[in-house]
Amino acid sequence: MLFIKSIKNKLWRVKKAIKNSLLERVLPYGFYFSHKGYCPCCDNKVTFKSKSHWLRDFFVCDNCNSIPRERALMLVIEKYYPNWKDLDIHESSPGNRGASVKLKNNAKKYIASQYYPHKPLGTVVDNFQNQDLENLTFLDESFDLVITQDVMEHVYNPKKAFSEIARTLKKGGAHIFTVPLINKHKKTEIWAVKGEDGKPVFTNTPEWHGNVVDPIGSAVTMHWGFDIVEFIKEHSGLETIIEHIDNIDYGIRAELIEVLITKK
Ligand SMILES: [Zn+2]
Repeated sequence: MLFIKSIKNKLWRVKKAIKNSLLERVLPYGFYFSHKGYCPCCDNKVTFKSKSHWLRDFFVCDNCNSIPRERALMLVIEKYYPNWKDLDIHESSPGNRGASVKLKNNAKKYIASQYYPHKPLGTVVDNFQNQDLENLTFLDESFDLVITQDVMEHVYNPKKAFSEIARTLKKGGAHIFTVPLINKHKKTEIWAVKGEDGKPVFTNTPEWHGNVVDPIGSAVTMHWGFDIVEFIKEHSGLETIIEHIDNIDYGIRAELIEVLITKK
């Protein structure tokens, strides 16, 4: 029985290798990778697929379209706060797939905010709370969890943002977030400052990332390294743990997908 199973398994692997190499020949980037597994964002047995070697942005779940960092974030939330569905959660600048959708659909006390600089803070705009991470209108100790996904590389005053997030956390709560630690062991660098007209003045080559509510995108203001942990400690007094996850069965494999947990 075991013997038959192992032959079947080998045949399946050969078939998959042939299929992948044929696909590689016809695809524009000459790359194809897929893996069957379980998606922590849509809670389904799915196939993760990428047509680009840059798995960070292209290794998607074929059911919910989530990408590796979103699945890593969800896994970390479930590990540290298994009761997250009952908690007070604030997510700043959520996406429209992956972990954001799961949190919104399942957490009873989930608040999503976006920042509209020309509208009054604390009001509701397009179904979002209008909140500036550097100047939150929430009372002290309002949330068990504050979630940000690839947001902290876009704030102009990260000292203020980290201290504001810490202020709004309850004791025992945490800021759980992803941010590309692109500088790794190199020191963190400021990439842009806010000009007098509110527009970015880049101190380096201009960089922009996509933004759900702003077609122009968001300027990259910081190139963080692992020293972000000391930065957060200095400006909020809180300790941060960095989780590096590589677990292909959950579709979590890519560069720059660390999840940070700053606990109060
Ligand atoms: Zn999924």
